[in-house]
Amino acid sequence: MSGRILVSACLLGMPVRYDGQGKPFAHALMERWREEGRLVALCPEMSAGMPVPRLPAEIEGGASGDDVLDGRARVVDAKGGDVTDAFLEAARNAQQTATAEGCRAALLIDGSPSCGSITIYDGSFSGRRMAGAGVTAALLRRNGIAVFAPDGVAALSAFLEPP
Ligand code: SF4
Repeated sequence: MSGRILVSACLLGMPVRYDGQGKPFAHALMERWREEGRLVALCPEMSAGMPVPRLPAEIEGGASGDDVLDGRARVVDAKGGDVTDAFLEAARNAQQTATAEGCRAALLIDGSPSCGSITIYDGSFSGRRMAGAGVTAALLRRNGIAVFAPDGVAALSAFLEPP
C-alpha cells in the first residue's frame, strides 16, 4: 500500500457538479482505497469559489487546458462569461492540495474543463468531445502528478502498486 490519490469530489458522489449532481463511481478499488484512507476528495471549481449550481463552462475554440495555462485560450460559460481566472485558481488549488496531501496520482472525471484528462468538450456547447485535458488535469501533469480517468482505474492501481 502506498500513495494517496486526489479524487474529483463528484466521483465520490458529492453534489458539486455545475448541475448540482454528483457522478459516483462505484468500483472495488475505490472502496478499498476509501477504507485505507487514501482518497483525498476535492472539487477544484468549488475550491475556487464557484457556486452550485453554476453555468456549464468549456474551453474556447477547441483549445486545451495547456492552452489556458499558457494564456492562449479562455474558459467561458454558456452565456459567454469569461471564467478563466476561476479555472486557473481551481487548478492551482488542486495542485497545492495534491502536494500538501502527498498525492502522486489523481483520479479525475473525464470530460470536464477542469478535471478531464482524456477528452474535453470542444468549446461549442454542442456536446461534442475532442481529445484533450482540462485546466486542472494539465497543471497536475505539469507538476509530475499522474492523472487517470475512471476508465483507467486499473492502470492507476498498477501505477501505485507495481507488480
Ligand atoms: Fe467534478 Fe472536477 Fe467538475 Fe468539481 S471541477 S464538479 S470535481 S469534474
